[in-house]
Amino acid sequence: MEQLYFTEEHKMLRDMVREFAQNEVKPLAQELDEKGEFPHESVKKMSELGLMGIPWEEKYGGTGMDTLALVIAIEELGKVCPSTGATMMAHTSLGTAPIAMFGTEEQKEKYLPALASGEKIGAFGLTEPNAGSDAGNTQTRAVLKDDEYIVNGEKAFCTNAGEASVIIFTAVMEENGEEKGISAFVIDADTEGMSLNPPEKKMGWCGSDTRSIFFKDMHIPKSAVLGNPSKGFKQ
Ligand SMILES: Cc1cc2nc3c(=O)[nH]c(=O)nc-3n(C[C@H](O)[C@H](O)[C@H](O)COP(=O)(O)OP(=O)(O)OC[C@H]3O[C@@H](n4cnc5c(N)ncnc54)[C@H](O)[C@@H]3O)c2cc1C
Repeated sequence: MEQLYFTEEHKMLRDMVREFAQNEVKPLAQELDEKGEFPHESVKKMSELGLMGIPWEEKYGGTGMDTLALVIAIEELGKVCPSTGATMMAHTSLGTAPIAMFGTEEQKEKYLPALASGEKIGAFGLTEPNAGSDAGNTQTRAVLKDDEYIVNGEKAFCTNAGEASVIIFTAVMEENGEEKGISAFVIDADTEGMSLNPPEKKMGWCGSDTRSIFFKDMHIPKSAVLGNPSKGFKQ
């Protein structure tokens, strides 16, 4: 049955990640969890192994494999250290995928090589204090003024936010006093007007960095819009 789903490449990846996870990630897991420390050492090694950009095209520095390969790697990491698995998963599928899937060529060239290689970490902010399961209730606003959006709002439970150099977030767009729906934006984490809470104290995955992000009169260019603005929520 396994032959139906897994190629030789998948099996080789699984063996490689399993060995890495057992030998290099597992010995650190308990201490990182007890201390609530981010798995910097494992992220560095995963970057060297090409695990921080598994599904992205090689021309952008990715490993050029598929989503199943990503899942296989996350499973092997998650077996020994959920924090490390969650860090890699959130970086790839939340903090990088929106750019790979919906970014302009310019955005892909700007962000993907450093994210796919693990040189930079990505995070994604959709959840808000009043918009979790009900993401349609997003209250963060991006108001167009001249050639910039001015963003105000708050995001909750953002994985990797304190370690990330690239932040993707969602907000209701407003232009000329009219709501244009929810869209996604991509920014550098050092953008003025953005700040973070200390990490949440969680019951598990304590090595995974989880924080609130705050936007206060943050000015960002129109080029920060990610994907088709009118389809932001659906994308
Ligand atoms: C460790 C961790 C990491 C996270 N990382 C990220 C991240 O990187 N980026 C990000 O944007 N978010 C992140 N989240 C947020 C996560 O996506 C939200 O917690 C999730 O969407 C649920 O939202 P909520 O916590 O507000 O719960 P709520 O939406 O308030 O739901 C609470 C409970 O009510 C139930 N419920 C809600 N609505 C209904 C309904 N209509 N009918 C029946 N039951 C309902 C839910 O199933 C749930 O059991 C993270 C959360 C955690 C815990």
